[in-house]
Amino acid sequence: MSRLCFQYGTVHTGKTRYAYSIKNRFMKYHLPTMIMAPKNTYQDDISNYDYLIEKEENLFLTIKKQFHSLRLIIIDDAHLLSEVQIDQLLQVAISLNVAIICFGLRTDFRTNGFASAKRLLEIAQVLKEIPSTCPCGEKALFNARKENGKITFSGTQIKQGQIITYEALCPKCYYHKVMQYKKLKESGIL
Ligand SMILES: [Zn+2]
Repeated sequence: MSRLCFQYGTVHTGKTRYAYSIKNRFMKYHLPTMIMAPKNTYQDDISNYDYLIEKEENLFLTIKKQFHSLRLIIIDDAHLLSEVQIDQLLQVAISLNVAIICFGLRTDFRTNGFASAKRLLEIAQVLKEIPSTCPCGEKALFNARKENGKITFSGTQIKQGQIITYEALCPKCYYHKVMQYKKLKESGIL
């Protein structure tokens, strides 16, 4: 039986680069490996992904039919999958003996968990935190969203686009920004 692993962290931890280095290491030992990502991945450059996952796609069936001979499947931006797809990935590891490493964010810009990340924390056999650092030097834990360079705490959980960026912050800096934002809202500036 292979295992389902979740490696989680904030934005800007180098998760994607790390995923490619794992793939290269496996391929060097002739262990067939693929990197997949949800079709709505946060990454601008999708040319290096081997497969893009559709929103409602049954991952167990897809992997059983097309990719059962792989030894490892790495999934980038796994927080954008559905909870059902995470359960399907556990089935892949158990029944098809394909190891799965999911990379993703633990929480959104409001510090709430993504449904799929919560499910991964519940059922993955291996959990590993990828550390990152806040600009103040403390360990980063949360992801602040910026719209046109300004911090915002409003909007839908998944939002991307040219004007949207994210910053990894420690809890102290994050809540400092929350208070600033609330003050600006109350004063009618925002
Ligand atoms: Zn900080």
